Amino acid sequence: KRQNVLSVQVFPYGENRKLVLSADITELERTDSMRRDFVANVSHELKTPLTVLSGFLETMRELPLAEDERARYLELMEQQASRMRNIVDALLVLAKLEGDVRPPGDQAVDMRSVINHLREDAATLSGGRHQITFDVDDTLTVTGGETEILSALGNLVTNAVRYTPEGGTIHVQWQASGGKALFSVQDTGFGIPPADIPRLTERFYRVDRSRSRDTGGTGLGLAIVKHVLQRHDAVLEVRSEEGHGSTFSVRFPAQRTARRQAVHA
Ligand code: ADP
Repeated sequence: KRQNVLSVQVFPYGENRKLVLSADITELERTDSMRRDFVANVSHELKTPLTVLSGFLETMRELPLAEDERARYLELMEQQASRMRNIVDALLVLAKLEGDVRPPGDQAVDMRSVINHLREDAATLSGGRHQITFDVDDTLTVTGGETEILSALGNLVTNAVRYTPEGGTIHVQWQASGGKALFSVQDTGFGIPPADIPRLTERFYRVDRSRSRDTGGTGLGLAIVKHVLQRHDAVLEVRSEEGHGSTFSVRFPAQRTARRQAVHA
């Protein structure tokens, strides 16, 4: 069985950063061409729902519609508006992360609260269509920005639900491993072809455009994940087998990994 692996090498913050960046010219060139594509991509992504929206508006203005038809049209229009809103929200999050040169801080993150949010979000999105299990070390925590970490790990969990057909299983782990904190989401979903794996964290990159769209995806989730992890000196690893499933793992460095006393409510 072949497993395809992506390791996003994440540059550490601080002094080493410049060194690594100037040494890696090919990475710079790649980033530059991605930037050139970015404006074109944003315009295209927003234009598609906008065109649909305008089409419905025009139809509603010109055709007499029955009450149920009207309601249906309004619902479809709301969907397009919400898609545009999701894209703009995600773009703002990305812009904020990219422009933020301050390190994410060294507060201990309340991982119990983060994991609870992940449980709720996964359950809501799945609507009972998947078997979702958590294997969590309650005393394990990391230092950094709680909102950022929740958004990054949340993206991995919601992706697992979104790209796993009904009846599949999703297993989330939060455990220490060799002094580091390890978060992983394993799913029995569609999986990802080898050629797509290295490009997953590019903005607007999708393996299956229509599948992403149907499930409310923006194509920006993993770009956000990459930035958050980079700021936390964490490493993302993707293992996937097409048609069988994927595992997204995040390894936080030992210096950000901490223990707390278990508190029982
Ligand atoms: P999207 O909003 O489209 O989900 P992401 O940046 O989060 O954007 O993910 C990029 C693409 O990676 C997705 O469109 C999907 O094709 C693929 N992907 C992400 N997570 C998974 C997963 N767990 N299983 C299969 N494919 C995935």
